[in-house]
Amino acid sequence: MSEKIKFVQRETLKEKPDPSELGFGKYFTDYMLSFDYDIDQGWHDLKIVPYGPIEISPAAQGIHYGQSVFEGLKAYKHNGEVDLFRPSENFKRINKSLARLDMPQVDEEVVLDGLKQLVDVERDWVPEGEGQSLYIRPYVFATEGILGVRPSYSYKLLIILSPSGSYYGGASLNPTKIYVEDQYVRAVRGGVGYAKVAGNYAASLLAQSNASAQGYDQVLWLDGVEQKYVEEVGSMNIFFVENGKLVTPELNGSILPGITRKTVIELAQNLGYEVEERKVSIDELIEAHNKGELTEVFGTGTAAVISPVGQLKYGETEIVINNNETGEITQNLYDHYTGIQSGKLDDPQGWRVVVPRY
Ligand SMILES: *Cc1c(COP(=O)(O)O)cnc(C)c1O
Repeated sequence: MSEKIKFVQRETLKEKPDPSELGFGKYFTDYMLSFDYDIDQGWHDLKIVPYGPIEISPAAQGIHYGQSVFEGLKAYKHNGEVDLFRPSENFKRINKSLARLDMPQVDEEVVLDGLKQLVDVERDWVPEGEGQSLYIRPYVFATEGILGVRPSYSYKLLIILSPSGSYYGGASLNPTKIYVEDQYVRAVRGGVGYAKVAGNYAASLLAQSNASAQGYDQVLWLDGVEQKYVEEVGSMNIFFVENGKLVTPELNGSILPGITRKTVIELAQNLGYEVEERKVSIDELIEAHNKGELTEVFGTGTAAVISPVGQLKYGETEIVINNNETGEITQNLYDHYTGIQSGKLDDPQGWRVVVPRY
């Protein structure tokens, strides 16, 4: 085990929220992890500090020119222990996002160790109810106060923690209504679609608002060149069950390589399902639906894990999938996935990583 990092304690701890009213991303724990970068020292001063406002230059480049990347993962509590789920994958990915925005790489091991120390301090904040978890948000942004357009010489990495309720509010899986966006695009070839950058979300909000106003839960994005091939949904990757086979769009540079996507592929193969990663056109899906071959659709992402899709609207065409009910394969994958996360099922792949007591 590693050395303990600096820990700046607060005078009084917060009152913990009622576990039945957690929702998502509303409450934050007592502490956060902080790590600074400047051009002379590199990354330095890794520490646990009280969660609270930070001082930042009004000219900070992150605000003006958008050098800002983030991650999302979860911690679960069971039998008195706290586990992280595949955390190394998130720190590998943050380095890919950082590289794309010409921001400095972090030492994945050092930051992961800092996160474990933070979660160890905050273990009482990890909720234990069905489907509940501690949502973990690492992020890095440019802090240099200068308006010239060039990569910043200073950055801050923070990790904040938010106890979160079950995505489905304890109920069973709830199929969503999806609007296939045929006007705006999320990402283009050669762009930043594969990186988890703040700007991708800014670019997606208008389409999401338009879809919500028409009664849809999420937007399904098509490719940015031909607007013909399916890419992903909101903040989730997407899977289809066609003729009993799982099909998901192949990673092409404009799709975010989800860790849940990767895990679902591995899990599905272990459970004996066939999985194809390839281009999937929206026309193919509608045709498959008309022939009765498109039996299930679901999204994958850290927040919901697996989210069934009950309806898709593309132009004038509206299709209902599996009678707007959660399909058998979707449910099976969800049960296995969440079973492993929550410690109810064995974890032969070693996806759960125990947070040590420092
Ligand atoms: C984070 C994210 C996902 C899902 O990634 P996970 O690692 O599975 O949480 C999918 N699409 C976008 C655009 C994302 O930002």
